[in-house]
Amino acid sequence: MINKIHELKKAKNAIIVAHNYQIPEVQDIADFVGDSLGLSKKAAETKAEIMVFCGVHFMAETASILCPEKKILLPDLDAGCSLAESININQLKEWKKKNPNAVVVSYVNTSAEIKAESDYCCTSSNALKIVESIDKNKEILFLPDMFLGAYVQKKANRKINIWPGECHVHAAMTYEEIKNLREEFPDSEVLIHPECACGSQAMYYSEKNKDKDIHFLSTEAMITKATSSANKNIIVATETGIIHKMKKLAPHKNFIPINKGATCKYMKMITVEKVLHALEKEAPEVRVPPEIAAKAKSAIHKMISIG
Ligand code: SF4
Repeated sequence: MINKIHELKKAKNAIIVAHNYQIPEVQDIADFVGDSLGLSKKAAETKAEIMVFCGVHFMAETASILCPEKKILLPDLDAGCSLAESININQLKEWKKKNPNAVVVSYVNTSAEIKAESDYCCTSSNALKIVESIDKNKEILFLPDMFLGAYVQKKANRKINIWPGECHVHAAMTYEEIKNLREEFPDSEVLIHPECACGSQAMYYSEKNKDKDIHFLSTEAMITKATSSANKNIIVATETGIIHKMKKLAPHKNFIPINKGATCKYMKMITVEKVLHALEKEAPEVRVPPEIAAKAKSAIHKMISIG
């Protein structure tokens, strides 16, 4: 199957990209593995005519908006995202109507329709930078992740209106789990994704105790920190798929997931067989209607340019 995938990729001028949460076999056949921002940048710069997007639906939509001339294939159209589903377009329109002068900042985990109604799009790595770039006197509507919103609000030290959405994987991570693992591995470093429910308590604890070994990082920054840290034991609070890349880059280290069951069933729907099938059939394709894509593009471009 892998040989066939390589042949088809070459024959069709195709590229395979995979999110850090994909299953190891899929990460291993990808030309590029990264987080949402990295994958968006890759989509914008690649010369390939076909992109097999091993991730979830909103990511493939973002790639299609950035390069409408390319064929964006999502090997399983059912690969969705509970966080992106936590707000729909009518709810956003209603929220905007109640706050007509507010600036809308949407996390990248949203549908194309939601992005089209937003002023800015952001990822976990630049959400703080984007909020800080907005005039202090402006009201902000931040959506859909309440834990990332709370993190940004605290770090930026300004009040923002936060939508009460969550990702079912990150929302299940508790501070208790971190506390127990730290007792077991006292010399460890803790890397926490700001989408995690354990974030506020961990932040309170780390600030109160001046604990410099607890870090709040985007997925890509977690990988950089995990591999560059002098500590052998690294506690990882995000989807467990990320540990595959960490282990490849730093095989001598001990990566400890805060919860071994923290896996995203949507991310795991993509398999090597489905990638092969997508390349053979050049389907299923994800396309965003041009009028929605045109409106969403500006918010996505701001996300990429702020970096
Ligand atoms: S881990 Fe959560 S935020 Fe990421 S794709 Fe899965 S449901 Fe969505």
